[in-house]
Amino acid sequence: MTTSSFHPPVRTLMGPGPSDVNPRVLAAMSRPTIGHLDPVFVDMMDEMKALLQYAFQTKNELTLPVSAPGSAGMEMCFVNLVQPGDTVIVCINGVFGMRMKENVERCGATAVVVEDTWGHPVDPQKLEDALKAHPEANTVAFVHAETSTGACSDAKTLTEIAHRHDCLVIVDSVTGLGGVELRVDDWGIDAIYSGSQKCLSCTPGLSPVSFNDAAVARIKAREHKVQSWFLDLTLVMGYWGSGTKRAYHHTAPINALYALHESLVILQEEGLENSWARHRAHHEALRAGLESLGLELIVPRDHRLPQLNAVRVPDGIDEAAVRKMLLDDFSLEIGAGLGPLAGKVWRIGLMGYGANRRNVLLCLSALESAMAAQGADIRSGGAVAAAMAVYGA
Ligand SMILES: *Cc1c(COP(=O)(O)O)cnc(C)c1O
Repeated sequence: MTTSSFHPPVRTLMGPGPSDVNPRVLAAMSRPTIGHLDPVFVDMMDEMKALLQYAFQTKNELTLPVSAPGSAGMEMCFVNLVQPGDTVIVCINGVFGMRMKENVERCGATAVVVEDTWGHPVDPQKLEDALKAHPEANTVAFVHAETSTGACSDAKTLTEIAHRHDCLVIVDSVTGLGGVELRVDDWGIDAIYSGSQKCLSCTPGLSPVSFNDAAVARIKAREHKVQSWFLDLTLVMGYWGSGTKRAYHHTAPINALYALHESLVILQEEGLENSWARHRAHHEALRAGLESLGLELIVPRDHRLPQLNAVRVPDGIDEAAVRKMLLDDFSLEIGAGLGPLAGKVWRIGLMGYGANRRNVLLCLSALESAMAAQGADIRSGGAVAAAMAVYGA
């Protein structure tokens, strides 16, 4: 038997990521592969840096895409900024905060956990209290956009509090970047990581990161070598720093970087603020449709991420059967719950290219059918009508 080429089905991706990829991004990816030290490629990477600085709203020199997924961007932040013996305050209000704690401990540091209920943002007062109780802490880590619940934390306020206590902050904005307001310089964020496959609507596998001068100073003053060779920024800086001759560090994922470049060009064409507003507008339409189906979002209104909608599964509905019907009959993917929310919520993503009217209406009509198939008492067509009313149609 010979194995033939792999042809995936065409899906609509409305889960927690990857999101629908813009066809322009896929087209960019199929352009000719060139060498990663080719001057033309180096020029493209300089543009990439400027595009990433725009997306993050930063002038940080050390702004680059890590050649690996968001989890590697996370690890890069921790292994470079945290040393054995340090104390790090880690705010946990979902899955991704738990991973931060794991990173801190693997760096040989102590994690002091500030816990909030899943579905709620990080409470600034609790952070303040933890910092008062732990004057030895030198770092605060939190998730801006918690993809496991759809809660948005106040990154600006949390950063201010951390700085008042002389801590650097590490921020996870894998799902935030491009979807909600994020201003790295204005808010004073010291180190941040994101991902290509959420609101940037690029293919998965790259992690934009950015570090300010305070973060770079801490890295340069390290007493212990960074335990990861691949993620050691002192080596990567030789490749990325301004005025450096680009020496070989690792082979960049050339075509994937064409894709990220294209997705950032698309973001720049639209304008960041417009992108944030578009995510919000489609979220409002989706929310109206969900409410008309009797469904509720688990996050309080003021703290909702427009790009990640965690919906409580009503009693009597088989959540996995609904997702299966969406996938089989509508070729539509939505996400399941994680951790304590497993089996209790659906996670509906409206990310990047996927934050559009067609996706909102498809998702609502598909959910309506799937819930009706399970005997839910639903007025046919009501959800789409409710969303259309928000669109002013
Ligand atoms: C998706 C995600 C990550 C991990 O990104 P990968 O690309 O899957 O490694 C980290 N943090 C948050 C908040 C995420 O949503």
